[in-house]
Amino acid sequence: MAAIQDYRRLLSQLDDLFTQAIDTHRSEMECKRGCSQCCHEDPAIAHVEADAMAEGIASLPSERRAALTQLVTAALPADGTPPPKCVALGVDGACQIYEIRPMVCRTWGLVKFYSKGWGGLRIPMYSRTCWLNFKGRPMRKTEGDGLISFDVDTWDAALHAIDVQNAEERGREATTQLTKTLQVAATLAGILGVERA
Ligand code: SF4
Repeated sequence: MAAIQDYRRLLSQLDDLFTQAIDTHRSEMECKRGCSQCCHEDPAIAHVEADAMAEGIASLPSERRAALTQLVTAALPADGTPPPKCVALGVDGACQIYEIRPMVCRTWGLVKFYSKGWGGLRIPMYSRTCWLNFKGRPMRKTEGDGLISFDVDTWDAALHAIDVQNAEERGREATTQLTKTLQVAATLAGILGVERA
């Protein structure tokens, strides 16, 4: 599917942006393997991301799929409540679907700003998703201070265009705006055939 390829290209561009941010702002960013500060919630994702996740999991070696199934089974609350942390977070504090994690997981820790939101004001939100990064910087300024930053509106628009293309390719109704209505926990449970105990 062409849309899935476009989605993977978008992720790769995002990874490049993150690497650039880390290289430039290392002294102000705590992001590293084993830090799971960002993973204490169940991330919301778009449909194309769920489809890409299904493809990614299908291509994992069977031992890895089995371990992931075990992890998700244990992490899903039996009472149907949302999990207190992401079901893909391993006991070692590392993401167990790292190479197929969704877009939102690749933006945690970056300085974010909304180029279209709030009347078109460019308002950076320092450490919006992680209080460990950019400590001591003011939460809001009207310009980006030259920081490598993530424009939420621009990236979301690109993801939405791909989501629409993906829906068309699959004969599904496309959404009129990007609605990340799926959750990683339910998506993984569905892909792996896990049922709540
Ligand atoms: S998918 Fe991975 S990176 Fe994203 S919240 Fe879950 S464990 Fe963390």
